[in-house]
Amino acid sequence: MNFISFNKPYLTGKETTYITEAVLSQKISGDGIFTKKCHDFFEKRYGFKKVLLTTSCTDALEMAAILLDIQPGDEVIAPSYTFVSTVNAFVLRGAKIVFVDSKYNNPNMDEDKIEQLITTKTKVIVPVHYAGIACNMDPIVEIAKRHNLIVVEDAAQSIDSYYKDKPLGSIGQLGAFSFHETKNIISGEGGMLTINDDKYCKRAEIIREKGTNRSAFFRGEIDKYGWVDIGSSFLPSDIIAAFLYAQLENIDNIQTKRKLIWNQYHAELSPLEQADRISLPNIPTYASNNAHLYYLVTKTPEEREKLIAHLRANNIYAVFHYLSLHKSPYYKDKHDGRELPNSEKFSDCLIRLPFYYELQSEEITRVTQCIAHFYAK
Ligand SMILES: *Cc1c(COP(=O)(O)O)cnc(C)c1O
Repeated sequence: MNFISFNKPYLTGKETTYITEAVLSQKISGDGIFTKKCHDFFEKRYGFKKVLLTTSCTDALEMAAILLDIQPGDEVIAPSYTFVSTVNAFVLRGAKIVFVDSKYNNPNMDEDKIEQLITTKTKVIVPVHYAGIACNMDPIVEIAKRHNLIVVEDAAQSIDSYYKDKPLGSIGQLGAFSFHETKNIISGEGGMLTINDDKYCKRAEIIREKGTNRSAFFRGEIDKYGWVDIGSSFLPSDIIAAFLYAQLENIDNIQTKRKLIWNQYHAELSPLEQADRISLPNIPTYASNNAHLYYLVTKTPEEREKLIAHLRANNIYAVFHYLSLHKSPYYKDKHDGRELPNSEKFSDCLIRLPFYYELQSEEITRVTQCIAHFYAK
């Protein structure tokens, strides 16, 4: 039996062609031809007011924290069940993270538990659209408005996904995407900041260019550039953008294929959910499904451990992730002590199944049958 890996980056075939083009153009630092093509693509297709490619989603989040002038002592409300970068970006500016629990049937932040966490120090709410499935954004945006807070969407997993008719990453004042090799659309490492409020556009460019107004200089708007703010080097080489552009040209094809994979997993595992053995992803009516990943939730941590081992014994590589951040070695003593049972349930019991473009239908069936055998015992 061949080995079914967890992830495998998909190449469209044009990546190296475009990289060669970028190299031959002799403009391979940031903001070259391919970066512009990617920016145009995103602004046109999703109507983001402004986008800036970055070297990672982590960097886009760090840019957001600088752009919002987060100061020591400011409070940021974010889920505990997420990747480190979601909150580390704000901790770097001195912020305190106030973790909100996940929903009962979905790892996203529970919008009903946000308002009680707001204090006079709260500045930002960071919804993370887990698996590309939207958080319930209308109530979140409404709470933010009522308390004069900013919303930064961690849309790392949310390419081509929607809340009602709005693209994820276009709803908060800022949004951050990832093109890491484990995401739907990739460039190895890579990311993007979306800016949906005019007032942040100019300063975002400056922060991304080491605190200089070089972008405006290159557009011919000013006759010399200099140091005008704090910043860092957040822009990727045009070689990265060349790779990314090859992926973007194929986004519809990639998404169609991934949705087929997702639907097959869901159809073949549904009987186990109906028999109340496992839980499967819940997609609220307000959310689209961009088929970023497929997961199931076991009843207990022990059962998860055994199931992962059973899959491994059958040459299938499944993984879990996100140890709740409020219990992490770094933050556990800084957390205010509230229990976050739903976050812990997903940390303890969620399994991600192999998921990549080239995964074959027979391989999916092999995975689901292997799981069915486990539960038949
Ligand atoms: C992947 C991911 C990130 C980090 O993305 P990088 O591009 O690797 O920095 C942040 N948040 C979430 C929710 C992610 O899934």
